[in-house]
Amino acid sequence: ITILGIESSCDDTSAAVIRDGVILSNVIANQSVHERYGGVIPELASRAHQQNIIPVVHDALQQAGIAREELSAVAFTRGPGLLGSLLVGTSFAKGFASALHIPLIEVNHLQAHVLAHFIKEDAEDLNQPRFPFLCLLVSGGNSQIIVVKSVYEMDIIGQTIDDAAGEAFDKCAKVMGLGYPGGPVVDKLASQGNADAFTFSKPHIAGYDYSFSGLKTSFLYFLRDRLATDPDFIEKNKADLCASLQKTIIDILMNKLRRAANDLHIKEVAVAGGVSANSGLRRSFEEHRDRYGWKIHIPKFSYTTDNAAMVAITGYYKYLKGEFCGYEATPYARVYRSMKYEV
Ligand code: ATP
Ligand code: FE
Repeated sequence: ITILGIESSCDDTSAAVIRDGVILSNVIANQSVHERYGGVIPELASRAHQQNIIPVVHDALQQAGIAREELSAVAFTRGPGLLGSLLVGTSFAKGFASALHIPLIEVNHLQAHVLAHFIKEDAEDLNQPRFPFLCLLVSGGNSQIIVVKSVYEMDIIGQTIDDAAGEAFDKCAKVMGLGYPGGPVVDKLASQGNADAFTFSKPHIAGYDYSFSGLKTSFLYFLRDRLATDPDFIEKNKADLCASLQKTIIDILMNKLRRAANDLHIKEVAVAGGVSANSGLRRSFEEHRDRYGWKIHIPKFSYTTDNAAMVAITGYYKYLKGEFCGYEATPYARVYRSMKYEV
């Protein structure tokens, strides 16, 4: 079974080919047009997707060494994401599948981030999580704790009630003038700083839910107060600010995750989404492995931020169940709390 995956939910255009669960190619075109605006401009994103999609799919097929006629189905991200961006991938997938007379498979982007852990590097690759496992999904738009019971069944037991962890990184980075996306820059600067230099208050939220908007605000006020007496405060303390901010975000994430793991007696724990590229978070997972006997699963860097390989692997599992969609499937921008991940 050979699946072409297409991802266009935000500002990365990506296409990938997976055969029987094994990765054959994963091509990602980043969009640099947004950098000067300090955030993704939806209209520019959809235009760039339109320019990128054909060459990216072409390259993915070529790198996989397969002809289009060998494809079994086309899987595409239906949502959540930016509507205009999703429309490009969705429309392309429909046209492509229709021309080849092969089935179409819709994929939930968040579920795909989790299932990235099931992409095999080769046929012998057995390094996959065992069920049930916990997955910390931390990305630009979401922060969730998910109990993964099978590839088809996931329960969201906690999620952010406001900003996502990635947003906290990006917004605080923006305040420091570090550009967009700020997460990777904070990560890099943090490695040269003292994580205990500054402390920021942590939220008190019930259950396994998260909140990051308070951190953003307290970070902003903290800087405002310091800048009032020392205009060079940020410049002089950049590394320490980044290290302290990163530590706070990681502590917030891991405290709830650890509690969930304890309560549910689950020791198999994975991390997914763009923020899982963060070196501090990866280190914290390793510390939890050593200290609490967790079996941890950390994705390859290329599977952390948005990519089509995760869409293709999700499409593969849906193909096995015969879950196809019709041409009336329209993109959806948001995921609602009550919405279940169903494959
Ligand atoms: P969603 O998946 O919720 O729709 P998204 O697709 O925009 O959101 P991803 O592409 O999964 O999000 O992740 C992007 C986020 O990951 C950005 O907020 C970015 O700053 C963050 N990020 C990427 N690398 C790092 C890093 N090394 N440290 C911290 N954050 C990072
Ligand atoms: Fe994403």
